[in-house]
Amino acid sequence: MGKVILILSDALRYDVAKENMGFLGHLVESNLATLYKIKGELPSMSRPMYETIHTGVPVSEHGIVANSISRLSVMPNLFRSVAEAGKVTAAAAYFWVSELYNRAPYNRVDDKETDDEFLAIQHGRFYTEDDYPDIELFAAAAHLVRKYSPDYLLVHPMGMDYHGETYGADSKEYRNHAIRQDMRLAPFIQEWMERGYNILVTGDHGINKDGAHGGTTPEQRDVPLFCIQPTVKGRGDTGQVVSHLQIAPTILKLLNIPIPETMKQKPLSFD
Ligand SMILES: [Zn+2]
Repeated sequence: MGKVILILSDALRYDVAKENMGFLGHLVESNLATLYKIKGELPSMSRPMYETIHTGVPVSEHGIVANSISRLSVMPNLFRSVAEAGKVTAAAAYFWVSELYNRAPYNRVDDKETDDEFLAIQHGRFYTEDDYPDIELFAAAAHLVRKYSPDYLLVHPMGMDYHGETYGADSKEYRNHAIRQDMRLAPFIQEWMERGYNILVTGDHGINKDGAHGGTTPEQRDVPLFCIQPTVKGRGDTGQVVSHLQIAPTILKLLNIPIPETMKQKPLSFD
């Protein structure tokens, strides 16, 4: 079965992604990708959604209800399930991801570059600054692919969140960053498609014109889900609304790994 790369673009809004990310748009209109709309889980905050996306359960079940909760995940999650299946896990991501699945609290010296087969994230490259350039993050992720061929890789850029929080979402800076992020991802997505990866692109939450998120408006919670599969024809822009809770079981299904009972939502079907 295939391998999976999840590109989790922090604060990537559905409408802004659809209107400004032209390479992904090309894949959608060429039926090389399938586009869904995710009505995001609540609260539309980062750390709670990292855990929701990786466990397939809502915050009231996994307990990471706020950004301030710094501890390891206690739920079955993607990294643990993939590692326990004897497969290779990797992440290029913000340090909160390391705190959820590898070690908490984060130590910026010892945890920044991690290669340890006994950890849930076996190959980790982490950062702590919100203005860490996306292109550096993408290069680190691409290196992990070339060096370790991970079965599951999380790619987690912070650029959309940084520009949205600094300038507000109704700004040329936020919208232009979506164009730039798509442009910078395009060569990597092409390489990873050629290597046979299934690639999912989504966001943890949106962001509003005040540069805030956490609430319930469509601006704060609606994110895209682009699904690219090397062996299956895409269905284009489906207009279908799906859930953040479906991402984890979908990825395990693509990897042919049993889905834990805690993940109750159905995986997406691409047939
Ligand atoms: Zn976030």
